Amino acid sequence: MSRQPVVIIGSGLAGYTVAREFRKLDAETSIQIISADHGGFYSKPMLSNALATGKTPLSILNANAEKMAEQLKMTIRSHSRVTAIDPSGKSVTLRDGEKLPYSQLILALGADPVRLPLEGDGVDAILSVNDLDDYHQLCTALQGKKDVTILGAGLIGCEFANDLAVAGYRVRVIDISARPLGRLLPQAGGAFLQHRLEAIGIVFHMGAATQRVERIHESLRLTLDNGEIIQTDVLLSAIGLRPRTALAEAAGIKVNRGVAVSRSLQTRYSDIYALGDCAEVEGRVLPFVMPIMHAARGLAATLARTPTLVRYPAMPVVVKTPACATVVSPPDPNAQGEWLIEESESGVKALFQSAEGKLLGYALLGTVTKEKNLLATQLPAVME
Ligand code: FAD
Repeated sequence: MSRQPVVIIGSGLAGYTVAREFRKLDAETSIQIISADHGGFYSKPMLSNALATGKTPLSILNANAEKMAEQLKMTIRSHSRVTAIDPSGKSVTLRDGEKLPYSQLILALGADPVRLPLEGDGVDAILSVNDLDDYHQLCTALQGKKDVTILGAGLIGCEFANDLAVAGYRVRVIDISARPLGRLLPQAGGAFLQHRLEAIGIVFHMGAATQRVERIHESLRLTLDNGEIIQTDVLLSAIGLRPRTALAEAAGIKVNRGVAVSRSLQTRYSDIYALGDCAEVEGRVLPFVMPIMHAARGLAATLARTPTLVRYPAMPVVVKTPACATVVSPPDPNAQGEWLIEESESGVKALFQSAEGKLLGYALLGTVTKEKNLLATQLPAVME
């Protein structure tokens, strides 16, 4: 008996990986991806280290929607936004009012960049890069420009700073924290990273908050809360992402920080699932590639009628700052323990250990990153 298609909302890594994994298990059931964007497949992590190697938006695109549809034997509706989900009628509504039925629905909606509530007439010139179209916009904005200021010294902010500096731009980074990657690294690690990034010309304004952004002819003028004034050509915001939850919430699906799902990635409706940056799996929002790969495999098995719980091993994250090799596996926020830190000129090895000496997390910078795989084998699973 033919069933209604499995419908996936979103053509990012989460949407495409679950489609690909499901196809390996089921060659027959029709799959439909609905995407608000172009629907092509590309590696999003590449966006924050593409400028230095001269990659264009086109060269980053692995395959357009048409090619992906052919490869995975599925239908892709690109530039189509889902505006409503009807869980009891088992259909989704597109912006133009068209209704599409589903047998199972996967929410792979991603996340929105967080915007700071800033004052001034330059606020709408602030860019953020969370997809290929944004990267295109950044490349256009950079044409003929020299100075770039980045709001946020987190993972993505530091990666863009390194990339832009190597590409020849004068780069400043502003953050309210005392050190870059403040949420992921202990103080010594942040200081080491900052030092290495400063060595390639990046200027940090740490412990400072941006208050106003004004347009002054072709450039932007920032006023910080410490009274500092910064003039810049291009302003890039990288202060974090917020899971896209509005569509789910309007359909009566439980939402916390992300779309709340169980370990089978199921919402409160048995045929609606979520994964990727939009999802909160048993209380955890993990907006990274590795959790998506594990979640997609588990979900594909569940969709193919082998109910499967997602399991996350330890998943260290490589920070793409070539000026300072960095790998982090942050301890669980509730973990009890302390950082043990070894510093040298060539690196920082920070191990987060329990009172019993069990390794619960690490931050490795510089030459000690070569120990990342060996140490990873000692780390606890993120979700057994
Ligand atoms: P997205 O890729 O955001 O996809 C969401 C999709 O949903 C899009 O196609 C969008 O159009 C669609 N959509 C949303 N709403 C609707 C709607 N209503 N109707 C139809 N379609 C809709 N992670 C790592 O592990 N390592 C890294 O080095 C790394 N580097 C990164 C660098 C950058 C610059 C960024 C931004 C992220 C990086 N990440 C990295 C994170 C990683 O890329 C993301 O976790 C991952 O790509 C998220 O995939 P996703 O499919 O969940 O979301």
